[in-house]
Amino acid sequence: MNKTLILLAAICAFASHTIAQEDAGIMKLDEFRYPKQRKIIDIPNVNGLQVLKCDFHMHTVFTDGHVWPNVRVQEAWKEGLDAIAFTEHVEYTPHKDDVKPGNLRPHELAKNLAAEQNILLIKGTEVTRNTPPGHFNALFIQDDKNLVVPRDSDLDEQAIQAVVDQKAFIFWNHPGWKAKQIEGSYEWIPFVDKMYKEKNLHGIEVVNGFGFHKKALDWALDRNLTIIGNTDIHNLIAHEYDIERAGVHRTMTLVLAKDRSAQAIRTALEAGNTVAWSSDYLFGKEEHVRALFHACVKLSPSFYSKSNGKKAESKYYELQNNSDLYFELQLVDGKGTKNIVLRPKSSQIVIADAGQTKLSYEVMSTYVRSDQHLKIELSL
Ligand SMILES: [Zn+2]
Ligand SMILES: [Zn+2]
Repeated sequence: MNKTLILLAAICAFASHTIAQEDAGIMKLDEFRYPKQRKIIDIPNVNGLQVLKCDFHMHTVFTDGHVWPNVRVQEAWKEGLDAIAFTEHVEYTPHKDDVKPGNLRPHELAKNLAAEQNILLIKGTEVTRNTPPGHFNALFIQDDKNLVVPRDSDLDEQAIQAVVDQKAFIFWNHPGWKAKQIEGSYEWIPFVDKMYKEKNLHGIEVVNGFGFHKKALDWALDRNLTIIGNTDIHNLIAHEYDIERAGVHRTMTLVLAKDRSAQAIRTALEAGNTVAWSSDYLFGKEEHVRALFHACVKLSPSFYSKSNGKKAESKYYELQNNSDLYFELQLVDGKGTKNIVLRPKSSQIVIADAGQTKLSYEVMSTYVRSDQHLKIELSL
């Protein structure tokens, strides 16, 4: 037996000894166990800013959600999010006989796990008035002691003032959720207009869960309010989103931030540097959606050209999507490939007639107004 074999035999003997010791009468059956790993949502920096994946609206058992706060942190870690906020209903606590209400209690219970898993936890609450005016999320509150609990309409202003006094970042949630049931509720109502004029409204939830609130996007654009997308999840994320399927992600806000910190998120939210991302779609101010597109999608120099007899010469290019976002392009001007689907981390061949300087496309998977997609040019 040479020296290597002796060493190998020694290692094997040691290993089997270790297993026997750990066994203690229980054989481990880990084959079906979920592999503990964090997904990476890959989105390149945009003009030197990091693209943080954030969900600023969710519930736990402390109001009308179905999960304990730690579960929200575990979900966020698994899905590759950077920041979340618990936003429990101030005025609505259906589990109060079983779980002692406390709007910041979920934050307290989950903050250590969040720190250990590198998830930024932002303090928040949902001011839940009757509709209209409806619900408003307040982020970066300090405490939950002076929030207005009674739901009487004459206290609506006072309820907002209670979070204004805490210098919260405030956005109007799901403006259209009762559009069919309550006439006049899905409008730019005087209550909201007053908040806006007094600079107490800073953003609008344009996507809530699986719904794009079209009018809300235009209101946000016309008034320079921050565009937000959230889950408003009450159940397990995996109960609502087909999260194990490739490419599936929860609804979220992409925050273009100077660094990965709660302070940088606040600064970016106040500056309106966001894009909402839900399903295959991006929703945002044109400048941000454009910058995001160009950070992710690059056209190669022409690598081949072909003469087609009498017809013009064709030039071949490669259009590459370096991100986990999805882009669908439709030609609007120029002679070239008409429809391009860029799935996450993939490329397509683009063919253009020679002698042109550009092709113009509409990016159908984006909304820069409720009735308008981003228009881009590919320089040839
Ligand atoms: Zn709500
Ligand atoms: Zn909610």
